[in-house]
Amino acid sequence: MVFETSSLLLDSPHRRFNALTGEWVFVSPHRNRRPWQGRVEPAPAASRPQFDPQCYLCPGNVRANGEHNPQYSSTYVFTNDFPTFLPEAVEQDATQHPLLQAHVQAGTCRVVCFSPRHDLTLAEMPATDIRAVVDTWAGQVTELGQRWRWVEVFENKGELMGCSNPHPHGQIWASDFIPTEPLKELTQQQEELKRTNVALEKQALELEDKAKLLEEQNRKVEVKNRATGSKELMSPSAALDLLSK
Ligand SMILES: [Zn+2]
Repeated sequence: MVFETSSLLLDSPHRRFNALTGEWVFVSPHRNRRPWQGRVEPAPAASRPQFDPQCYLCPGNVRANGEHNPQYSSTYVFTNDFPTFLPEAVEQDATQHPLLQAHVQAGTCRVVCFSPRHDLTLAEMPATDIRAVVDTWAGQVTELGQRWRWVEVFENKGELMGCSNPHPHGQIWASDFIPTEPLKELTQQQEELKRTNVALEKQALELEDKAKLLEEQNRKVEVKNRATGSKELMSPSAALDLLSK
């Protein structure tokens, strides 16, 4: 099997198969070369205070619902004051017509403060503190998974993505239904397993390993011949052999 990137994928409009959803996606790579004359976002402010008295996520501050955050020193989880889902939603017959269907969705939404420090991002935190965040995510998924059918951990990063506060934090949504995109992926993976008896993720990992191997085999380094002054392209192992002589 050949994994080299063909010019079709780099230069020509084409459709690509998304194996996770079973859908074909239109890709138009040549349009990346068009000039951009639209809006250019300014870079975020270079520095923020470690504590912002106006921030509703900083330790000790008052949130929109009047509650005080504790003086937390690691991660801190609370139920979102403005949740997308409510746990006690009751099914009602909202159907007026087959084309106008609606169902109640029950669930809960939590906020995870990654750090008490207002000025950090997850990537800037020490590894031990990042580990605490990952452990919190795992604990939350386990706990919420006891009651809810679907638990999703995510972070809206930056103002453009709808993040309402620069304090390092993420969200957890748990619901009594599987959302549309994950449901497609689940169905596709079940069908692939039935068809090939090999999990889709395993196939993807094997493909990735083969692609990395090929990339390594095709990698060349430039070596200058001291005697002649000429430059040659060779594999890294050939270059090492030459240099060790
Ligand atoms: Zn803050």
